[in-house]
Amino acid sequence: MRSEVKVLLDVEQVPRHWYNILADLGKPLPPPLDPREKAPVDPSRLERIFPKECVRQEVSTQRFVPIPEEIREVYMRLGRPTPLQRARRLEKFLGTPAKIYYKREDLSPTGSHKVNTAVAQAYYAREEGVERLTTETGAGQWGSALSLAGALFGIKITVYMTRSSYLQKPYRKVLMELYGAEVFPSPSDRTEVGRKYLAEDPNHPGSLGIAISEALEDCLTHENVKYSLGSVLNFVLLHQTVIGLEAKAQFEAIGEYPDVLIGCVGGGSNFAGFTYPFIADILSGKDDIDVIAVEPKAVPTMTRGVYMYDYGDTGKLTPLLKMFTLGHVYRPPPIHAGGLRYHGVAPTLSALVNEGVVRAVAYNQTEVFEAARIFAACEGYVPAPETAHAVKAAIDMALECKKTGEKKVIAFNFSGHGLLDLTAYDEYLSGKLLNYHPTEDDIKRYIESVRREIGNL
Ligand SMILES: *Cc1c(COP(=O)(O)O)cnc(C)c1O
Repeated sequence: MRSEVKVLLDVEQVPRHWYNILADLGKPLPPPLDPREKAPVDPSRLERIFPKECVRQEVSTQRFVPIPEEIREVYMRLGRPTPLQRARRLEKFLGTPAKIYYKREDLSPTGSHKVNTAVAQAYYAREEGVERLTTETGAGQWGSALSLAGALFGIKITVYMTRSSYLQKPYRKVLMELYGAEVFPSPSDRTEVGRKYLAEDPNHPGSLGIAISEALEDCLTHENVKYSLGSVLNFVLLHQTVIGLEAKAQFEAIGEYPDVLIGCVGGGSNFAGFTYPFIADILSGKDDIDVIAVEPKAVPTMTRGVYMYDYGDTGKLTPLLKMFTLGHVYRPPPIHAGGLRYHGVAPTLSALVNEGVVRAVAYNQTEVFEAARIFAACEGYVPAPETAHAVKAAIDMALECKKTGEKKVIAFNFSGHGLLDLTAYDEYLSGKLLNYHPTEDDIKRYIESVRREIGNL
């Protein structure tokens, strides 16, 4: 048996396949719909935007999808498999009989799990001769991951970064430029969409919705250019399953199996990557795992949203997706967990929440930062503000075990580090952080407006 302080697999044990949950969902996922005809979108139409292999994976129901050897090698060079680590000092501090484990996705060069899909998307783009990939980024985690992947596979990367982040988080921009990417504050004067918003306000703070529209316009108006997305889509979640497949093998190596699995949710990719290989066991009959998806109270998609068809973006350029949503018109408040500021959530995760396989909880950002402070002081690692949501839920579960005396095995995904988010921690420590939550009336209004626009699907 291996030491349970830090479980590190041999490099040979980087998985050879990704796990595709579409094979096990039982019923088919409601398909993406064309907004005008309200009919299923022909996947081939997505091939102008995404690499063909990614489109194929998006609709595949093959349970195990082989990971090309070149991608596996890059995974290894970038630190995979990542350790599964036990939070002994945190357990002791909390006085819990539970065991707490966390999977170290913060160890990638850019500091989060996002590299796992960036590498795959850049690889498939290069395989079909794409010269350049465009994308958007909010806080900058996704932009940095794709910029690194572009450098590794010789693909040019253009990033549209929301202007407010571009100004507030200069280090993320520098990181992207170090990897050779070009980064523009969005709205920019490079696209028609961007120029329209700039004309309204030359200092427009931008939004993820506008940045997506700019990246898509840049892709569609240039030859040999495709677009990359860092979450939500099935193929993105698929690439992230290396996390959970490794974790499963690591638990097996120490003779444990988690009772509780926890991940934070923006679009759902790190949560899915970590939990889906275990959820495979639930879907084939195992009934004693508690799977918890954590979101901010400021963007309560799964806890207060509605399961219905909606646009994936604010600019209404995407097909309609059946998912938990607050409405594409929802403007997420300026919480520091930028990666969790999304109005919807991945369709497969939405289906699992709807079926009761996954349960959702929500927290305020002040309690989340307090949990992160405790974690950093006990374990030494500073969580990203997004990751801190999972930390908070893990601590709450451990404290519940303290009350009941249950020796549960709690595992959460440590999706990223917060060393480029210290301004947010500074605000927390000086008592300046605010909590936000939409009122019932606000949410009703947004949902009604979606229903008026596209019907109650
Ligand atoms: C982007 C990000 C998230 C949220 O995105 P998901 O697709 O839901 O995983 C969570 N944690 C970190 C560190 C991120 O960078």
